[in-house]
Parts: sequence; C-alpha cells; structure tokens
Amino acid sequence: MPGRAADAGTVDPRRRTPRTDAVLARPDVALAVERLGRDRVKQAVVAVLDACRRGEVAPEAVTDAVLAALPSSPTSLRRVLNATGVVVHTNLGRAPLSAAAVEALAIAAGATDVELDLRTGRRGGRGHAALAALAARVPDAGGVHVVNNGAAAVALVSCALAAGREVVIARGEMVEIGDGFRIPELVESVGARLREVGTTNRVRLQDYAAAIGAETAFVLKVHPSNFRVEGFTSSVDIAELATLGVPVVADIGSGLLAPHPRLPDEPDAASCLRAGADLVTASGDKLLGGPQCGLLLGDAGLVRQVRRHPLARAMRVDKLTLAALEATLTGPVTPVARALARRPADLRQRADRIVAALGTPAEAVDSEAAVGGGGAPGVALPSAAVAVPADLAEPLRHGDPPVVGRIEGGRLLLDLVALDPADDDALLAAVRRHWPTRPQAGR
Ligand SMILES: *Cc1c(COP(=O)(O)O)cnc(C)c1O
Repeated sequence: MPGRAADAGTVDPRRRTPRTDAVLARPDVALAVERLGRDRVKQAVVAVLDACRRGEVAPEAVTDAVLAALPSSPTSLRRVLNATGVVVHTNLGRAPLSAAAVEALAIAAGATDVELDLRTGRRGGRGHAALAALAARVPDAGGVHVVNNGAAAVALVSCALAAGREVVIARGEMVEIGDGFRIPELVESVGARLREVGTTNRVRLQDYAAAIGAETAFVLKVHPSNFRVEGFTSSVDIAELATLGVPVVADIGSGLLAPHPRLPDEPDAASCLRAGADLVTASGDKLLGGPQCGLLLGDAGLVRQVRRHPLARAMRVDKLTLAALEATLTGPVTPVARALARRPADLRQRADRIVAALGTPAEAVDSEAAVGGGGAPGVALPSAAVAVPADLAEPLRHGDPPVVGRIEGGRLLLDLVALDPADDDALLAAVRRHWPTRPQAGR
C-alpha cells in the first residue's frame, strides 16, 4: 500500500492519526466531496483512517490514500472500448450517442423549456422539437409519438387499440426480443388476445383473411430482427396485409427511418408506411443511433388515439431522451451510421498500424463483424481486427478503459468496425499495458 509507515510499531500510530472532519476539510478532499458527495468520500476517509490507526498508512499519506480510494467518476458505469465487432451491442448500451446528442443531454439536464413556450410564457407541447424532427425525417407519417423503448411502443399500441380484442399475428413472427421477454406475451399482458395464423415457416394472405373478424383490432407484423428462417418459407408483406381492411401495425425494431444501402433486407419506417402500414413501431437506440426510446409513426388519428391513452403517461420519455433524440435526428452522422459506412480497406489499414506499433507478434486480420442489437441478422459486415492471444481478454476487460473484444478461433480479436478511429491509440495503449509483460493467469 502506498505510504506504508516505515516506523509502524515503534510509534503509536493512533496518536498521530488525524480526525475525520479535519481530513474532509482538506482542499483536495473538499473538492472530491463537491464532486462525489459527502457520504462516499467520508466512507473512504474512515477506511483510510482505520488503516492509519493500524499503522498501514502514514499520517502524511492520508490525503493521497483517500483520493486514490475514491472512484474516478460519479457513476459506476465505465466508458468501454467496443472492440467486439458488434456495432449495436446490447450489453454495451446499444447505440453510442453522437457528440451532438451528448451536448444536447448536458444542456437539457438543468432547468429547460421542455414543456414551456418561452415566447408566450405558457405551457408548451412537450418535446415538440424532437417530434417535429422525427416527422420531418419521415414525411409519410401523419403522426409521431415517442415512448421509453420499442417494447413500450408495442405495448401502448396494443393496449390503446386492442385491449379486449384480437391482434392477428403470424406464428413465424412470435419473436423473443431478449432476456426472456417475448412480443406475443407483451401484447397479451395489456389485455389483447392473440390470434395466431400460419405455421413457424409459412403463412399466406388467406390465413390472415380467415382469422379476421369483428374482434380484430389490427394485424401485427413483427420483423424477425434477431434470427432468420431459411428454406421452405413464406410470409405476407405489408402491401398484401394492407388489403385486408383492418389496420396493419409493423414492428420493425431496428429504427431505420429510410432504406439503408448496406442493409437491403432491413425494413425501414418510410417504406413500411408507403407500402400501407398504418403504424410503425421501432427502437431509437438501434440503427437510428440515438438514445433508448420507442418510436411510433403513422396514421395521425391512430397516433392521437395512442398518445391520449392513460398508459401513454406511464411511458413518457424524459427531457434527456427528447434532447438526445432531437440532436440525433437533426445533427451530424451518428456513430452507428459511421460504423456501418466504414470500408474494409480502411479498417485493415487501422489494424495494420496498430499491429506495427505494438511490435509484438500481434496480427492484423480480416474479420466478419455484425450489426447486432436486434438488427440485420445474418448480415456480415466485412471488417478488420487485431488478433492477440486469448488470455489477454480478461486483463483487457479489467483495464482502464476496459476493452471488450471477441474470442474467435482461439484468439482474441479486437475488431475495429465499432471503434471510433480516435480511440485506436487508447486501444493500442491498453494492449501495450498487458503485452508482452502481461499479468500471470489467475491474477
Ligand atoms: C428490439 C426490438 C424490440 C424491442 O425494442 P426495445 O427498444 O428493446 O424495447 C421489439 N421488436 C423488435 C422487432 C425488435 O427488434
């Protein structure tokens, strides 16, 4: 431990141990109190003074020991270098926000005019700028609304339009979205009944038509965003469903607002609405590249009905989300979009540079990255990675900043597609710290 008292045992350390209040009042410690809160800093001070009394910390070293024991930031969440090769990684918080969205968050964090019209001094439409930005990006939508996440959008639509009635859904689209949560159970949980049609692999327009009746509230078309069924399959597209004479709700998941050239099979809001969907639901933090939220776009009357339902209040987004969403929709290219646009040759060049700088037997390799986060299943993004021994995975994950890669073929691949080039040097430094003088296994 730093500052261990050299004379421990010869002088009674208890007599030289400073008082808690005196330590808390020292300038550096007081600054930490302002930043991290008194309770957290006091805990550290008490622990260090205990160590001081035991002779394990010299009285002169108390301040340094307190500062060293404090967390470096007010949140226990860490910034992580995403070298997994998964662009939208659910366990890493899905879409990283753009600098513009982060700036917007900081501005909205204080008192803000989220629900006040500063011109008139009266109550204003909550989040109208974010909603207007969303509507502007999808002119085919007559109405738009934003809730807490994609699942909330599906639940709210089901509750507002189908409670006590039937939702018709193809068996092959009964999707589990993650962590054991399933779309069909979500729909049922708000009081709608499911009417399943077709089989796991095939469904025809006729199956839908036969199921539709007086009890039908809408047809739900769910994009299988995290799996693919191959072989003898058929499904009914939105244009055909739109001929059935009942509303069609398309849960596209990924949040693409318009077609993406690299993801031709991924549905987007504009195309779905143009094809005849009455409502589209999607997540804000997948391919849209924004904060966690759920988007609802489509028929103005239906959106109004959904927005005025009592449950809508329980799914209302906060000012931070509205600020970040607006900045995402109107601001510069998002980190997700930038990642999807990276060219394999450029990624390979970055990998080569890192390998050359490492000067150790690392290897630059071509790799196959993925969109992830419930988007574009089966689409391989050609990428490049730095391959290092697999036993570096743990020390890199435990490092500062933590680096998360992926194990493949017995090696740890540090894939560059999801990593901002500005973070290449941080990645390089992290690997250098652990290689070749890396800690022994088990440490
Ligand atoms: C991701 C996804 C959801 C759930 O959205 P969350 O934002 O995670 O709540 C629902 N449906 C589909 C098709 C999805 O891909």
